[in-house]
Amino acid sequence: MRRSTEKLYKIFKLEEELGYQNRAVVGGLEKFSGSWVSEARAEGLPETSIQQVSSILTEYPDRTIPERARSLQKIGYILDVPGIKHLNIPLPEERPQEKPAYTQNKNHSEESIRKTRQKGRAAAIKRTTGPSPVPAAPPTQGIESTTTTVHGIGQKQAALLAKLGLHTIEDMVYYFPRRYDDYSSLKLIKDLKYGEEVTVLAYVKRISTFTTRNQGRKIVQALVSDDTGSIQLMWFNQEFQLRYLRNNMFLSISGKIEQYLGRLVIYHPEYEQVDKEQLNTKRIVPVYALTARLSQRWLRRVMYNVVNQWAPKIPDYMTEYILKDADLMDLSSALKEIHYPESTASLKKARYRLAFDEIFLLQLGVLKQKQEWTSQKANVYTVEDEWLTNQISQLPFELTNAQSKVLREIREDLTSGQPMNRLLQGDVGSGKTVIAAMALSMVIDNGAQGAFMAPTSILAEQHYASLKRLLANQENENRVMQEDEIRLLIGDTSAREREEILAGLENGSIRLLIGTHALIEDPVIFQNLQIAIIDEQHRFGVRQRAALRSKGVNPHLLVMTATPIPRSLALTVYGDLDLSLMDEMPPGRQPISTHIIFPVERERVYTLIRSQVEAGHQAFIIYPLVEQGDNDENTAAVDEHERLQREIFPKLKAGLLHGRLRPDEKEQVMRKFRDREFDILVATSVVEVGLDIPNATVMVVESANRFGLAQLHQFRGRVGRGSDRSYCILIPETSSAAENERLLAMESTNDGFELAEQDLRQRGPGEFLGTRQSGYTNLRLANITDIRLIERAQTYAKQVIENDPELSAPEHQLMLDAMNHYWPSSEGERS
Ligand code: ADP
Ligand code: MG
Repeated sequence: MRRSTEKLYKIFKLEEELGYQNRAVVGGLEKFSGSWVSEARAEGLPETSIQQVSSILTEYPDRTIPERARSLQKIGYILDVPGIKHLNIPLPEERPQEKPAYTQNKNHSEESIRKTRQKGRAAAIKRTTGPSPVPAAPPTQGIESTTTTVHGIGQKQAALLAKLGLHTIEDMVYYFPRRYDDYSSLKLIKDLKYGEEVTVLAYVKRISTFTTRNQGRKIVQALVSDDTGSIQLMWFNQEFQLRYLRNNMFLSISGKIEQYLGRLVIYHPEYEQVDKEQLNTKRIVPVYALTARLSQRWLRRVMYNVVNQWAPKIPDYMTEYILKDADLMDLSSALKEIHYPESTASLKKARYRLAFDEIFLLQLGVLKQKQEWTSQKANVYTVEDEWLTNQISQLPFELTNAQSKVLREIREDLTSGQPMNRLLQGDVGSGKTVIAAMALSMVIDNGAQGAFMAPTSILAEQHYASLKRLLANQENENRVMQEDEIRLLIGDTSAREREEILAGLENGSIRLLIGTHALIEDPVIFQNLQIAIIDEQHRFGVRQRAALRSKGVNPHLLVMTATPIPRSLALTVYGDLDLSLMDEMPPGRQPISTHIIFPVERERVYTLIRSQVEAGHQAFIIYPLVEQGDNDENTAAVDEHERLQREIFPKLKAGLLHGRLRPDEKEQVMRKFRDREFDILVATSVVEVGLDIPNATVMVVESANRFGLAQLHQFRGRVGRGSDRSYCILIPETSSAAENERLLAMESTNDGFELAEQDLRQRGPGEFLGTRQSGYTNLRLANITDIRLIERAQTYAKQVIENDPELSAPEHQLMLDAMNHYWPSSEGERS
C-alpha cells in the first residue's frame, strides 16, 4: 500500500473507532486534506482520484454521521482499499458532536476505546471547529507549491525570496519574523517626557536645514506631529537624510527624548515609513529579515496573505493529549500568531509551541533511532579480568581514573547483548586513542574483526602507528595481534596493496583495518566486522557513520569526539547514544599558557618562536580566511607566509597549508611538518583536528577575534601534547578587539567544557555543532540553553515512543510525517 493510502486507512479506522466525530485528526479531516493531496500527488496517485478524495474530505464536517461513514467508504472504493470499503456504518440517529465520542459511540467496545486511550490520546477534548457553511473548494495546490503560485509573487520576487531560502509556501509559513514592532502600545506626542526611550507615529510636517553658528555643523530637522502635538527630529551632518524625508510621510520613529533650546527633540532617531493600513489595527507588526531589493512592506503584505490562507490548513500532528497536557497552542494558531500576534501574551504562547515542536521532533527522531538500535541483538564479547589487567599493564603509562571508568563502561556494553552505541567525549589530549585500542582488543581477541575510521589520511596513519604499537607490540607476549594483521587503507594506498587488503579482510586474515572514508567504500567487505570506531566523529556525516556500521551485522560502535558538548545539547542531539566522559588529563601535562597579545607587540611573539625553534620545537601560525571584494576567498596566510619567510624568519623553514591545496598536497605539507622538515607551519583554519605533533609548542592565532571559541580551543589543542611547556598566543586584529569575550574566556581557562557552554550561549547550536549535525539547523526558536523546555518536550517524546515505538498508531501518522519532514535524512541515522 502506498504511504498516503496507508495513512488514510489508519486515520479512517481511528475515525470509525471514535464514532465519526471528525476527531481522528486534530483540526478535522478537512484540514488534513491539504497535506494528503500533496503527498498523494508526490506518490503519483491519479489526479482524478485525488480530487475526489479531497472534496469528500473537505465536505466531511458538514455531513451527518452515517453520511460521513459512507463518504469514507466511498474513498475506499475510489482508491480500492478493502479495509476502508468495509468501515462500519453507525445508526442514523446519532448526531455529530453532541457528546464526547467515548460515551456516545455504542458500536464500539470498551476494549477498543481503552486501547485508543492508551496510545496517548486524550479522552475528551471538545473540538471547536464546527461545520463550515460553505465547503471550501478542494485545494488545487499544496503547501509544497513554489512561491510563484502565490498571488502577487512573480518570477522576479520568487528569485529574491529564494535568496532568503524561501522556495515554497511552506518555507514562507515557517519564515518567522526576526523581531516585532509593537504599535499596540504607542505613545502620543503630548505624553512624551524628557529622557524617555519611545516609539511614536507621526506625519512629517516640515523639513528644513540650517548651519550652526559656532561649529558650522549642518543640521537637518523634521517637524513631525500626530493629532496631539509635535516634536522636532534632528540630524547633525547627515544631509543625506533629505533624500529620504518627504512632507506628509507617515513614520514610525524611535529614539530618546532630549532637549534643544528648551524644546523636546529626538536626535538621530530610527525611523521607518509605515503602512497605515497595518497600523489602524494598532497591532504588533512583524519585522522580517530581508535581502536587497525586497521591501519590508511588500514582504509583510505577502506574508500576511500567505499565512492567513495557509496556516489554518496545516493539520496539527500533535495529539490532543499532548496539546492539552503541555498546554500548547494549536499549530495553526501558533503559525498565525507568530507572524501577526494579537498580543504579546499570545506571541509568547505561539513561540513556545513552535519551539516545543522543534525540540519534540528532534527528540522523537533521536529516540526512535535509539529504540531501533536497542531492539537489535549483538554478539557478546567477554574478557577475563586477568587478561585485561595484563593488557593494561603492557601500556607505556598508567590509565587515568577517567580512562579506567570509560573502559569499564565499554566492557559492560560489549557483554550486554545489544550493540554498543557509545559516544566518548574527551578534551583534546585526554587520551582517547588508547581507549579505542582496548575496546578493539576485547573484541578482536575473541576472533572478530575491527575497523577504525579517521577523517584524514594523516590522522589514520598516526593511529595506525600507535595502534600497532599498542596492540601488536613484539615485546608483549600476550599481544592481541601480529603486525601484519593490522592494515592501513587510505586514498594513497597502491592498487596492489589495496587488493591484498580487500582479500585479507574477506578471508579474515586481517583483523583490524584502520583508514579514512576509503573504509566505507563499496569493495570493502569484512568477513566478520564486530566493532567499529570513529575518531573525531563530528567530521563525518551521518551517512558515513551508517555506512561503516553496515559493513558488519549490528557491530558495536564507539564514536569519539574532542568537541565538548554541554549537557543540554548532549541530552538532545546525542539522546540516542550512551555518553562517556573523560574529564581528566593524563598526569605530567604542562598547562598551556594562553596570552592575548596586542598587534603592536607582535615582535615579541616572533622572538618567542625563534627561541622555541632553537630549543628544538615547532610552531603554528594561523590566519583567518579573508573575504576579498570580488568574493574570491583569498587567504592572508598565503601573503603572510611569504612575508614571514622572507623578512621575519629567513633562517627558519616555514610551510604553508591552506584550503585551496588539493587533499594530497595538504597531507604532504602536514607530513613534512610532522617529520620536522618545517619549523613553522603557516596555515588557515584547515589545520587538522586530532593532529598529534608533540614537538609543537607554540600556537599563534592571528586575527583571533574572528574565530569562534570551539575553534580557538581546537587550535590550542594542537600544542601542549608533549611534556614541554607550550604557548597559545592570540593576536586580535586591533587593540580594541582584545576586549573580545571569547579571547578573554580562552585566557581564563583551559577547560573545553566551560568554553563550550560559553560558545553555545554566544553563538547558538547550529554554529556550535556545524551543519553536519543536520537536526540542529532546524532550531530556529528553541533556545538550546532552555533546559526546562528541552526536558518537557523530551518527556512527551519519550512517552510517545514508549507507547508506540514504531509510530504506527493512527493518531501518530501525522506525527510520523512531521518527524520525517524534520529529519530529511531519516532513512539513515539521526545524529
Ligand atoms: P586525544 O584524546 O586527543 O585523542 P590521544 O589519545 O592522542 O588524545 O593522547 C594524547 C597523548 O597522551 C598521546 O601521546 C598518548 O600516548 C598520551 N596518553 C594517553 N593516555 C595517557 C595516560 N594515561 N598517561 C600518560 N599519557 C597518556
Ligand atoms: Mg585523538
